[in-house]
Amino acid sequence: MSFVSHTRFGVLRRETREGKELLLLACPGCGEVGPLDDDQFHGRVSVDHASHGCPVGYHEKHDFWAASEEAGWEEA
Ligand SMILES: [Zn+2]
Repeated sequence: MSFVSHTRFGVLRRETREGKELLLLACPGCGEVGPLDDDQFHGRVSVDHASHGCPVGYHEKHDFWAASEEAGWEEA
């Protein structure tokens, strides 16, 4: 089962794979989906997509957790 949250910082997806919860962010710059770790999810460190070849150099830090609580989660 997976859930999606349309936050003001981008679209987050939460899925369970092999019993582990995985958080994914669709890069607000280029749309490529990649995993978020706990520190990135809580805004303690930035999401550096620029160094992974992001064409628009997305490199930002946000409290995605708070934003997703605000936006809510829906089944996807
Ligand atoms: Zn990107």
